[in-house]
Amino acid sequence: MNQKPSVLFSKDLIQSKVSELGQKITADYRGKSLIAIGVLKGSFIFLADLVRAIDLPVQIEFIGVTSYQGTSSTGEVRITHDLSIELKDQHVLLVEDIIDTGTTIDYLLDMFKLRQPASLRVAALLTKPEAHIMHHPIDYKGFVIQKEFVVGYGLDLDGAYRNLPAIMQLQGAEDPTNPQ
Ligand code: IMP
Ligand code: MG
Repeated sequence: MNQKPSVLFSKDLIQSKVSELGQKITADYRGKSLIAIGVLKGSFIFLADLVRAIDLPVQIEFIGVTSYQGTSSTGEVRITHDLSIELKDQHVLLVEDIIDTGTTIDYLLDMFKLRQPASLRVAALLTKPEAHIMHHPIDYKGFVIQKEFVVGYGLDLDGAYRNLPAIMQLQGAEDPTNPQ
């Protein structure tokens, strides 16, 4: 890996955005309890910070999916870990690190709808321009970025960089080999 990462969103900027999202979610769900489902592995840090910014009873769940190899989406979603509880009649918030084409989140939303939750919404820290092709709206959006590949704050490139505290852009990776 010879690409040098540069900071796109600092630790402080991320924290203020996460607390803004947490306050909005708290206000919107007032009087209710919530199941927050983190999409593994990328969302684990965002989820951990977001739930601490939500002042409501929250249960935490994880769903494991994989669709990326290197910087390209394979376009095929595979479930690697399912939930441990039922969603029927529950308020469900799906928490995603980044939405690129929306393939992953659309797939998960279709799957979770069948489980008949009381409500189903999406929080995404980062959104790329192609997310508009999604069938579902993104209810809580952090930052909108360009079509570039980013790492850090949970996001990886082939398993590396997840532990970087800021969100970094990989130089030379602005035009990833995503199939168009
Ligand atoms: P989508 O299915 O095309 O929306 O891709 C979403 C998933 O791909 C995210 O959950 C991430 O795991 C991964 N992904 C997309 N873009 C990036 C990126 O820039 N850096 C790291 N992972 C990414
Ligand atoms: Mg992810």
